[in-house]
Amino acid sequence: MGQLAKFLLVSICVAYMAVKWTAPSFDQESLRGARVLVTGASKGIGEQMAYHYGRFGAKIVITGRREKALQQVVEKCLSLGAQKALYIAADMGNESDPDKVVDFALEKLGGLDYLVLNHIGSSSFSMWDGDVEHARWLMKVNFFSYIQMAWKALPSLEQSKGSLVIVSSAAGKVPSPFVATYTSTKSALNGFFGSLYHELAMRKSNVSISICTLGLIDTESAMEKVRGLINVPAYPATEAALNIIKTGATRQQELYYPWFTYVMCVIRDWYPPLTNYIMQNSINSP
Ligand code: NDP
Repeated sequence: MGQLAKFLLVSICVAYMAVKWTAPSFDQESLRGARVLVTGASKGIGEQMAYHYGRFGAKIVITGRREKALQQVVEKCLSLGAQKALYIAADMGNESDPDKVVDFALEKLGGLDYLVLNHIGSSSFSMWDGDVEHARWLMKVNFFSYIQMAWKALPSLEQSKGSLVIVSSAAGKVPSPFVATYTSTKSALNGFFGSLYHELAMRKSNVSISICTLGLIDTESAMEKVRGLINVPAYPATEAALNIIKTGATRQQELYYPWFTYVMCVIRDWYPPLTNYIMQNSINSP
């Protein structure tokens, strides 16, 4: 690695640490009784978020397609200390389901303090094969349902000085090979909610928006796709979930987890050849 690259890397790390040290501190008591809707919570990071919210004594509604799995997550949330835990099965590929889910949460919880948008439709880890229909469907699940739910929940979040939490990916900022459609949906989220962030701030809205940029996390579905193909460490889903919750609760604009995803994103703009090298040499063709 050249001197310039080393200098850039050290500077970014120092800047990141400075930002971390000055970040507001998290008080878990602030989540006791908080009314939370988490999407994609039947497994993976969403499931882990549901358990953390449960431990913190929140009132939660979770959603996903598989009723049985949702039921089990709800039971565990209650045993961990959730004041309330309910589920509603929904498919975010259906046009009316995003509204149905928000309506259910508003009715059962009497409003919302947190809307945590986390679900994703399935996509393969493979070379782009020209399947535009799948891309269209994925956009519906991973992007359009997010903006539909955010819009529906906004009046209640305004009333409660609430928070919108968007789970995004480093792939949405630093395009990775073999996930072209997934990457596009995450870029769309970053663009839309980045823009909405300004609009809300400019009209002095009560609602905070947090965009969470995650690197590789050890969920079953992610590991199934990339096992043996990616030479970067996978970070624990439970840690990622806790970091997302803290970011929302402290109303921070952004989360980068693990920390080096931030470095990747900055290098991508400052010195693209380095990210190109890393991308093309840390990922093998499926
Ligand atoms: P999982 O695949 O483990 O979980 C996805 C969730 O979405 C499940 O609860 C699933 O439930 C639900 N879901 C899937 N399809 C639909 C649908 N059509 N309608 C409604 N719900 C659906 O994902 P992860 O936990 O790995 O990822 C969670 C978030 O973190 C995502 O936004 C992802 O982009 C982001 N992320 C993850 C990374 C990783 O390495 N794991 C890396 C970077 C970002 P069900 O099957 O019951 O419908």
